[in-house]
This record gives sequence, structure tokens and C-alpha cells, in this order.
Amino acid sequence: TLPTEASTQPVAERTLVLVKPDGVRRGLSGEILRRIETKGYTLRAVELKNATTELLAAHYAEHEGKPFYGPLVEFMMSGPVLAVVAEGEGVIPGFRSLAGATNPTDAAPGTIRGDLGRDWGTKVQQNLVHGSDSMDSAAREIALWFPNLR
Ligand code: GDP
Ligand code: MG
Repeated sequence: TLPTEASTQPVAERTLVLVKPDGVRRGLSGEILRRIETKGYTLRAVELKNATTELLAAHYAEHEGKPFYGPLVEFMMSGPVLAVVAEGEGVIPGFRSLAGATNPTDAAPGTIRGDLGRDWGTKVQQNLVHGSDSMDSAAREIALWFPNLR
């Protein structure tokens, strides 16, 4: 029957993208969404959010205790973040490729961080975007940022 067939469909690969406060402030949200869509991925959710300490502590739990952790959380609360769920085959590593290396000075031209980012001499790398790094992180992060998304 239809409901059974629908429920056995494999869930499409999804990743969590964040346009960080530097990207939103600089008016690059549209450009970043354009790159995701032009690559052929589908936007499933897009929402401007003001992150709380609790949300960021959960999101960045793996970095707790590192020297950049405090400045990172502070930076992520310095303005709204555009939270995005993008979907498509290979989207988890695919968006990481689009984003480029963590340090925007090292990020290759052609990437979001390479084309649009630079080092600003701050205590945290202001590198425009976040992208989930594995299936497990993607599931965990999407549940944190979009608890009501089906
Ligand atoms: P990502 O997956 O490429 O975003 O990098 P990570 O998960 O390793 O780090 C999370 C975020 O913390 C990065 O996107 C940067 O904003 C920041 N960050 C990571 N490593 C460093 C570092 O060595 N120094 C500074 N200043 N910031 C960092
Ligand atoms: Mg990471």
C-alpha cells in the first residue's frame, strides 16, 4: 500500500549549513544559497535565527575546551545566523568542498571561503559558513537547529 511504500523510501542525504554572522552581515546569504542551488542541491529549510549559548554549546560540543571555543561561541552570537538544510546525493562532503578549507587564507579560489573570505586578525576564524562533516553530525545538527523538520 502507498503509506508502507512511502515509509520505506530511504531518507535523502541532508546536511546542515549555517551562514555565520559575518556572512549575513556582509550580505552574502543570497550568494551562498545560490552556490548551493547552482550545484544542484535542494533547499529543504532556510531560517534566520539568533543562536543561544545552549544551542551553540550543543552544536560545537566537539570543540569545548579548545582555545578558540569561547571566541567562536561569542562570534556566533554576534548577529543572526542563516540556518539551512540542503539535500542531495553526496551533499555532506559536497558542501564541504563548496565551502573550502577552514582557514579562509588557505581556502582555494572557487570555494565560498576562498572567494569571499579572508583573515581579519580576530581570535576566531570568520569563515562565513558551517557545514556538517559526517552523516552522524548532520543528523545531530539538523535535529538541533530544526527540531520540527520532518
Ligand atoms: P570547520 O568544520 O571547517 O568549520 O572547522 P572546525 O569544525 O574544525 O572548527 C569550527 C570553527 O571554529 C571553524 O569554522 C572556525 O570558525 C573556528 N576555528 C577552527 N579552528 C580554529 C583555529 O585553529 N583557530 C581559530 N581562531 N578558529 C578556529
Ligand atoms: Mg566542523
